[in-house]
Amino acid sequence: MRCPKCLCIYSKVIDSRVSKNHSSIRRRRECTDCNYRYSTAEVILHEDVIVVKRDGRREDFDRSKIVNGIRRAIEKRPVDVEQIDLMIVDVMKLLESQYDIEIPSRAIGEAIMEQLKQIDKVAYVRYASIYKDFRDLSDFANEITKLKN
Ligand SMILES: [Zn+2]
Repeated sequence: MRCPKCLCIYSKVIDSRVSKNHSSIRRRRECTDCNYRYSTAEVILHEDVIVVKRDGRREDFDRSKIVNGIRRAIEKRPVDVEQIDLMIVDVMKLLESQYDIEIPSRAIGEAIMEQLKQIDKVAYVRYASIYKDFRDLSDFANEITKLKN
């Protein structure tokens, strides 16, 4: 890791913190050259996970795709970044307990919808509209009716 200030590659760790859900570690570092302090984060990559798409194609698991999908759904909603992180940790925990290396994209989408339903109903309906490919207003109305029941 290069110091953002002087670009020196040597640093010492002065503090390590595990996140609340134990899915990431933040390290506070100090550059041994210029003493500038900065933070780094370690996260689990799930890099061995393969996503099986609806048409049967397979692709490497890409966390950023999930994050982007959720971000779109929660735009202007009172959901913060930490909640997204926690949501993804829960989703991955659930999926990895149900599947081995290959996880159907359908299962990921449904797990995210379940989480959003608990956190923010508006975000849930938005996500569902994209995921379930709503065609018109009646699709929205049906989903909202289901939510109210
Ligand atoms: Zn430095």
